[in-house]
Order: sequence, then C-alpha cells, then structure tokens
Amino acid sequence: MKNIILDFGHGGIDENGHYTTAPSKMFTFPNGETAYEGFINRQIGGLIELYLRSNYPDYNIVTTVKTTDSRDLSLSYRVQVANQFPAADTLFISIHSNASMNHNASGFSIYTTPGVTRSDSLATYIGEEVEKYYTDLNLKLRFDFYSDGDLDREADFYVLMKTKCPAVLLECLFFDYWEDYKLLKSAEFQKELAWHVYKGIIKYVENN
Ligand SMILES: [Zn+2]
Repeated sequence: MKNIILDFGHGGIDENGHYTTAPSKMFTFPNGETAYEGFINRQIGGLIELYLRSNYPDYNIVTTVKTTDSRDLSLSYRVQVANQFPAADTLFISIHSNASMNHNASGFSIYTTPGVTRSDSLATYIGEEVEKYYTDLNLKLRFDFYSDGDLDREADFYVLMKTKCPAVLLECLFFDYWEDYKLLKSAEFQKELAWHVYKGIIKYVENN
C-alpha cells in the first residue's frame, strides 16, 4: 500500500475570515459560537496526516487539499486525486463531521459503498479503533451491522462511488450538537481521535 489519500471535507475559512462552504455545513449555537465543519475536518485530518507522515515516511501521503487551503474543492477533483494512483496500492479516507435536522443527534459513523468490497475491511479496522476510544468517553457509535454484517453504514456518496481504490468516509461526531462540538474543537480529543483513525489505517495496511 503506497498511496494514502486523505480528503478533508468541504472548505475552510479564508484570509478574510469568510467560510467558503454553504451554511448547511456550519452551525451557530444559542451562545453565539459557530461551528464550521470544514475547519474541524482540516484539524482532525491534518493530525492523521501528521501521524502517517512522521511514522511512515516511506508511504506516499497525499491530501486532496492542504489544511492551510480554505478552498472548497469539487467532489470530482477529490476523486481525481485518488484515481491517478493504481487502485491496488491506494486508500482513500474522507474526513467529515455530521449534522442533523433537529441538531440533537450525536456519535460516530463510517461509510462505504453498498455491497461488500475491500472498503468494508478498511472501515472495520478504523471503526474498531475509534470504538475503543469512544467507548471510554461514553460516545455513541452509529454502527450498522444489519445491511452486510459489519459495522460500516452504506451510502452512495459521490467520493465513495467514484474512487476506484478502497474508500471510506468518516463522520467523526455531530458539529451541530453542543456536547459533540465541545469535543470536536478540543485539541486533546482531536489528537486522540486522529491517533485511533491512524491506527486503524495502519492495521489495514499491515494486513493487506
Ligand atoms: Zn461533510
């Protein structure tokens, strides 16, 4: 496994302080504080990138967008980054945070395309590592063992359908739910979560 593609969902905050992504990807709490999904995705994803680069300097770690780049790049571009590498030697991991209609949902989920592919195994390794940490914190694991017997949820998300290599999409927690957001913005939580996702990626690589 030579190429690990990390995708940080949505845009960041530009040099003028403007969020580059649609209002549905941000949320203002009653206390006036605003959560920006794309900003959180970059923080957590950037730590996964750091752990991979420092511990596995031989791997080709590629990000679809730099953590310092606030642009909200198109889904087709993100897929293109992954598909330039041979599928057999590549993994694609997209980092997101979730939101719900009533702003009161919480927890972690990880998605693959419907059906059983190599992505399911990658999702299981990552999900089981995250489970260890989230269980300690009493956080909800939104696993789905019904559709195909393993913990991932299944969806026809564009970046999962169009990438040729094993591909997963993580919804770390809900950015529009205060208890989840408090964790998402905490440096300590970000480091621990990123470390567990990193460990899941490495376990997949070592077993394939
Ligand atoms: Zn998202």
